[in-house]
Amino acid sequence: MSDSKERSDEDSLVAISALQHWLYCPRQCALIHLERAWSENRFTSEGKVMHERAHDGPDELRKGVRIARGQHVRSLSLGLVGQCDVVEFFPDGTIVPVEYKRGKPKAHRADEVQLCAQAICLEEMLRLGEGGIPNGQLFYGKNRRRTDVAFGEELRALVADTSARVRECLEGKVTPKAEYATRRCDACSLIELCQPKLIQRSASSWFRDNLESQI
Ligand code: SF4
Repeated sequence: MSDSKERSDEDSLVAISALQHWLYCPRQCALIHLERAWSENRFTSEGKVMHERAHDGPDELRKGVRIARGQHVRSLSLGLVGQCDVVEFFPDGTIVPVEYKRGKPKAHRADEVQLCAQAICLEEMLRLGEGGIPNGQLFYGKNRRRTDVAFGEELRALVADTSARVRECLEGKVTPKAEYATRRCDACSLIELCQPKLIQRSASSWFRDNLESQI
């Protein structure tokens, strides 16, 4: 790969956090990564504090395990860039990325996709080849436990597919329309900016007015 090609790829890298936002809600992803909108709520503030704690402090050596904090990573094959909370390097060569989350394990796959994307970046940067990092761990603040995540074929395919969808959305520069879902939207820090109920009400009013005018 030439220097100029690599530079242009580096310029168009998508944040790994965008994959996580996309899986939560495609509109949220576009509002943040396309329209540069951001707003904190209790959940995002607590999450931010937790990440800062995980990133803070120097790298250290514990019982032979090197613990690297806040490591920047990128993958030119997937076009992703991000930062790991913690990466553990074991004496036998095993490498384990660890991501810290404020809540508890969720029904959607966003946390697993984020962690797997970090692993793919590390594999590429360290020239380990696919499968060089087979597992990672998610630490959830609610139960204060680590959960193992296996980076199997299906999860890797989901990372690649989500990356492609996010890139297509950002390059197309079209923010998806809101679809109000109570649990998802009520926990979303962007609900005031997004106004999903208002958009839905407007759309239904439009249909009602149009249908009435045709009767
Ligand atoms: S309020 Fe709902 S539709 Fe709007 S960005 Fe958030 S999750 Fe998506």
